[in-house]
Amino acid sequence: MPFLDENEWRQIQPYLGNAAQEIKEYRSKHGCDLETARLNIKTEATQKFQELTGMPGVHFEAIYHHRLSDWGAECNSCGSLFRTPKASFCANCGKTKNSAPNMALKHDG
Ligand SMILES: [Zn+2]
Repeated sequence: MPFLDENEWRQIQPYLGNAAQEIKEYRSKHGCDLETARLNIKTEATQKFQELTGMPGVHFEAIYHHRLSDWGAECNSCGSLFRTPKASFCANCGKTKNSAPNMALKHDG
């Protein structure tokens, strides 16, 4: 499943905030219980997620788990994600998170 970067997250966050209200409306419209509404609802957040990532039908609760920054930064060695913001080393290649990028290797243009 695709992750959202901060820019995409900002766009979808308001829709996620609306989800509770949408569930409420779904329930009164269909007269169903909370669980049924949660499972069946197609929130605006779901539609927005499809717009941003091309992936349809993702439940709004799952979207909450796909904010990139919640999974930590990308490893500057292999590019895989640190599993949590608190992770101190890359689970993939073992490089420690705090090893500063070598500025001497930075090229302008
Ligand atoms: Zn790595």
